[in-house]
Amino acid sequence: MMPKETFASLLIDNLVIKEDEYLFGYLHRLIQFSECHSEAALFREMDMPAPRRFGEAVPKWAVRMSPFFSTMSRAELIENHLGGGFWRGFLDSDSWIDSHAHVLNIKISMGAYFLFRAERVLFSFQSLKFCPKCYEESVQKYGFGIWRTKHQDMTAFICHEHEEVLYHRENSDFKGFKHSDDFFDRSKCFQPKLTVLHRWLDFETARIRLKGVEACREEMKLHKRVFLESSFCSEKDSPMRELVKEQWAKALKKYLLTLYPHHRKNIEALAHTSMVDPIELMACRKPTHPLIFLLFKLFSLYELELPSPELKS
Ligand SMILES: [Zn+2]
Repeated sequence: MMPKETFASLLIDNLVIKEDEYLFGYLHRLIQFSECHSEAALFREMDMPAPRRFGEAVPKWAVRMSPFFSTMSRAELIENHLGGGFWRGFLDSDSWIDSHAHVLNIKISMGAYFLFRAERVLFSFQSLKFCPKCYEESVQKYGFGIWRTKHQDMTAFICHEHEEVLYHRENSDFKGFKHSDDFFDRSKCFQPKLTVLHRWLDFETARIRLKGVEACREEMKLHKRVFLESSFCSEKDSPMRELVKEQWAKALKKYLLTLYPHHRKNIEALAHTSMVDPIELMACRKPTHPLIFLLFKLFSLYELELPSPELKS
C-alpha cells in the first residue's frame, strides 16, 4: 500500500535514486539534502529504524522504506539497489525474501533477523567500496559521487569497467547514521592487495551477475547434490563427515585470513559456528551466505582430500 504523501515521499520522488545506486548510500544522500528535516523525523515518517550498519541483504529499514518509492516495486529495489541481482542466485526461491520481509514488517520489536545463514558474523568484514574512476564519472554526471550497487557485492574486488581495484571503507568506520561527508576520501580507505583468492571470488561474482539468477540457482543446486552424493558424509557422526569438517574449518580460516587479515579475532570465533559444518551448509534449506557458499565451493572442488576407497572401510 502506498503511504500518504509525506515529506519523505516527496523527497524520494524528487531526489531520484540513480541507476545502480546502493540504497544505503542513497539514504545518506536523502539525509544530506533534507537539512530542514531532522533525520530522526525522516526515519519516524517512514516508520523505520535508523540503519546502524550496512551490508545486510534485506535490512528492516529498507523493507519499511520500500513503499515510499512510488515508481519502483520492492523486487526492483532489491534487485538493483540492494544487490539482489547477485545474491538472489544463492536462494533456491524468492519466497525466502517474501517471508523475510513479512517478519520484518511485523510491528513488535524483535532481535536481529537475517536472510542468510552466517550473515550476522560476516558484518564485521563488510566494507563500502568504490572505484575512483566511477566516482569521478558520477561527479561529472550528477555533481556528486554514488556508491554503486554491484561494487558492494561482498565478493567483488575489482571494477570491471575501469580495471581498478576497489577502495574499501570499513564498516567499523561508520558510526550510527552520521558518517562523514568525506566518505569517498581515499586516504581513509584501503585497497586490498589482491591474491588469487580475491581474483577467483571476483571472477565468480562477475560470472554470476552475467549469467543471471536462475542459472546460478541451478548451479548451486547441482553443486550441493554432487557434493552430498560424492563425499559420503551424510551420516551424522560418521568419521568421513568429521574429516571433511576438520579440513573445511582449516580452509575457511585460511581463506578468511587471506581476505580479512585484520580480523583475526572474529575469524577465530567462526570456528564455533554452524558455518564449519559442511552438512549444515550443503543439506540445510536455509540459504547460506554467498561468500561462504563460494568459499565452500572452492574448497570442495580443489582442496578437499578424501581417503582412497580402501581406507574407508
Ligand atoms: Zn569503475
